[in-house]
Amino acid sequence: MSTSAASAEPLLEVQDLATHFRVGGGFLRPARQVVRAVDGVSFSMQQGQTLGLVGESGCGKSTLGRTILRLIEPTAGSLRFEGRDITALSQAELRPLRRRMQIIFQDPYGSLNPRMTVRAAVGEAMRVHKLVSSRSEEEQRVAALLERVGLRPELMSRYPHEFSGGQRQRIGIARALAVEPRFIVADEPVSALDVSIQAQIVNLLMDLQDELGLSYLFVAHDLKVVEHVSHRVAVMYLGRIVEILPKREIAEGARHPYTQALRSAIPELDPKKRRTRTLLHGDVPSPIDPPAGCSFHPRCPIAEKGLCDRERPLLRQFGSDHFVACHLADRAERTANAGAGAAVLPAPGPV
Ligand code: SF4
Repeated sequence: MSTSAASAEPLLEVQDLATHFRVGGGFLRPARQVVRAVDGVSFSMQQGQTLGLVGESGCGKSTLGRTILRLIEPTAGSLRFEGRDITALSQAELRPLRRRMQIIFQDPYGSLNPRMTVRAAVGEAMRVHKLVSSRSEEEQRVAALLERVGLRPELMSRYPHEFSGGQRQRIGIARALAVEPRFIVADEPVSALDVSIQAQIVNLLMDLQDELGLSYLFVAHDLKVVEHVSHRVAVMYLGRIVEILPKREIAEGARHPYTQALRSAIPELDPKKRRTRTLLHGDVPSPIDPPAGCSFHPRCPIAEKGLCDRERPLLRQFGSDHFVACHLADRAERTANAGAGAAVLPAPGPV
């Protein structure tokens, strides 16, 4: 199923993608269990757009981002990038494409070699992909990139530990941009930063998108950040996408109870817009043994016995670019707090 209503050819098409890991084995003993980190995900993305991917920790969103880049091998499904099936390409065949598909990590310090200067770290990918023909050209391009991401070029001879967290994330962005990508997986790029720095990095990413026509898969657990930065939002729960919708519909038009619960947890400054908060009971179940039927049913405030605990809901279309996996999604009158057993809290006040 295509989950984009746009008519132009998608930049990225993900079809029934699954990433399973075998665990529990030992020396000369076979693995006993399977973790279904990503379990049948389909969506598409257009050039120049941001798809926000949101969900609680452990829902599989980072694994999905890395599987799309083939940094983790998929167990099943297909990936098309720029119209080409890349699912079965060898790593050697993928190499020329790597330039156009990059990643920005949550912890840039962990991904930067502490013994490499910024100049070497940012210039390395340019050399590997033969984008520069001399050291002086490389230095000029590194300087221009650092300037573009808000760092002084004269800092290029320093090492990663000499920078703050926000500056290191700027270096990570410069390194991703060094090979002129079209598509970037931004994997929790601001989660480890102070709130004031988060805004700067998010604004930088949005400016770069306007300037360079980049497409982002923006992975985060904070729906407020995702809502700000994205054109469309995909909500993930236990390895599956449960809702995809335009960002303008998140506030009033979300139909999945999980999306509604995430949205209700965002503090609202305008008293007129303040709403009752839905509290979800319990933890996210284990992806080793997900619940039967709708995997959200043990926590869902409106689950219907005999239906939700038996039948797995498929993504269905509501509106031109809105898809929901919920048996009860067409009950338009339903709100986040409807239904017996809904646990509610007063909406939090201004912060
Ligand atoms: Fe809740 Fe049932 Fe919808 Fe799942 S299918 S989200 S359990 S109402």
